[in-house]
Amino acid sequence: MIFCPLYSGSSGNSIFVSSGKTRLLIDAGLPGKSIDNALSQIGHAAAGLDGIFVTHEHIDHTKGVGVLSRKYDIPIYANARTWDAIKDSIGKIKEHNIKIFEGAVSINDMEVNGFSISHDAVCPTGYSITAGKKKACIATDLGFFSKEVKANIEDADIVLLESNHDVEMLKFGPYPYVLKKRILSNIGHLSNDACGEAIVSIMNSKFKNIILGHLSKTNNYPDLAYQTVANILLDNGIEPGKELSIGMARRDMPSNYIEI
Ligand SMILES: [Zn+2]
Ligand SMILES: [Zn+2]
Repeated sequence: MIFCPLYSGSSGNSIFVSSGKTRLLIDAGLPGKSIDNALSQIGHAAAGLDGIFVTHEHIDHTKGVGVLSRKYDIPIYANARTWDAIKDSIGKIKEHNIKIFEGAVSINDMEVNGFSISHDAVCPTGYSITAGKKKACIATDLGFFSKEVKANIEDADIVLLESNHDVEMLKFGPYPYVLKKRILSNIGHLSNDACGEAIVSIMNSKFKNIILGHLSKTNNYPDLAYQTVANILLDNGIEPGKELSIGMARRDMPSNYIEI
């Protein structure tokens, strides 16, 4: 299985996952052209993608969904409430490309399972994708790390987990009070500290790869996110780089082209 975040962060998200036979995007939150470029940088193409799965209706996850579906005849997968929330903003989609589903769906040799996350959207979803014995998970835009998220990701081979903000940078940064309150709430975003603690709680012998993603441009930076998470792991006797590889999903270009 190939797992590659094409873009990750508040300015747009899209993740490419492939089994070789089946190729999917999770979210397409940038203009279609940007996603085309990112895919060609990693030696793939949007033409022939087997589906785009939408996590929730926020624009940083949906901006290019409609364009890509129309241009390359790609099915869009979402739960019913999310579909209702995006259908008026993504433009006309061909009937055969509207794939509303709840729970799990199989596409060729892949199974994609949606699980509930806590965020200020109508029905926000994390995804686990399995092909053969391999499992990849995406859990970003989380107000908190719930038992349900934990149960869905703890047996994964690779997880893209949110490390959105440094709490101090957010509190003392330029965001208006209401926005700070929203981000810090349990329907907002996961902080670097909460991300580190979540990783400690899911450590086991199988779990080897974590990618930190959806970093805030204003209230975080990659070295700080990495160091905060690494310090929490070290405090709990886990040595980053040895028992667990920690990668960083980049905001503006493909990163971590990982084969598991
Ligand atoms: Zn969101
Ligand atoms: Zn987001």
